[in-house]
Amino acid sequence: MTPIFTPPPPTIAATSDGRGFPVRRVFCVGRNYADHAREMGKDPTRDPPFFFTKWAETVVPSGTVIDYPPETGNFHHEAELVVAIGTGGHNIAVADANSHIWGYATGLDMTRRDLQLTAREQGRPWSTGKNFEQASPLGLIHPVSETGYLTEGAIRLTVGEQTRQEADIADLIWPVADVIAFLSRLYTLEPGDLIYTGTPAGVGAVVPGDVIRLSIEGLSDTVVTVGPPRHG
Ligand code: MN
Repeated sequence: MTPIFTPPPPTIAATSDGRGFPVRRVFCVGRNYADHAREMGKDPTRDPPFFFTKWAETVVPSGTVIDYPPETGNFHHEAELVVAIGTGGHNIAVADANSHIWGYATGLDMTRRDLQLTAREQGRPWSTGKNFEQASPLGLIHPVSETGYLTEGAIRLTVGEQTRQEADIADLIWPVADVIAFLSRLYTLEPGDLIYTGTPAGVGAVVPGDVIRLSIEGLSDTVVTVGPPRHG
């Protein structure tokens, strides 16, 4: 068959060893730090984690000037540890989960908070609050061979000179291995899948001109500048 238009190229994320990581799907975990659950008006629980998804094309590299997205007045940063899946599988056991990880990166789960909260109150899907162009900036993906398996390390986000989010990935309610196990019961995980593992407290608004810097110990920073409105 001849395609009726030229399909867009796949999203290829950069790795710390100079290669390309083809992004297949983006999964995100909701409320995976207790202090963030509280600031969102919810009690932290040990209920199974819940997930939402974003298009692969929402992934943009560190260094991007991201558009201020349309239809929001409350554009938020969320600092997250991102897991890159290298080996697929379904019904993965917690004890086997680490073997499915190719590597780790820093990543931002950018959010139109006003749209997300309106949808939440109305019992509607979160999609328009979470899944939009350039919504998932990502740092270099570091292979496990370089980092080992990450279970602790400082995570910090600044906007300009101001520290907004500061925590430790050891504080995840559900650690990475558990997240992979739960997610693999719902979907068959595939090489190229990314999992944004949730954000600690301190989420907040950014405006055009702001520079957001996310650091996690042992990984490359994600730095993005918020540009002018997409639809001017
Ligand atoms: Mn998030």
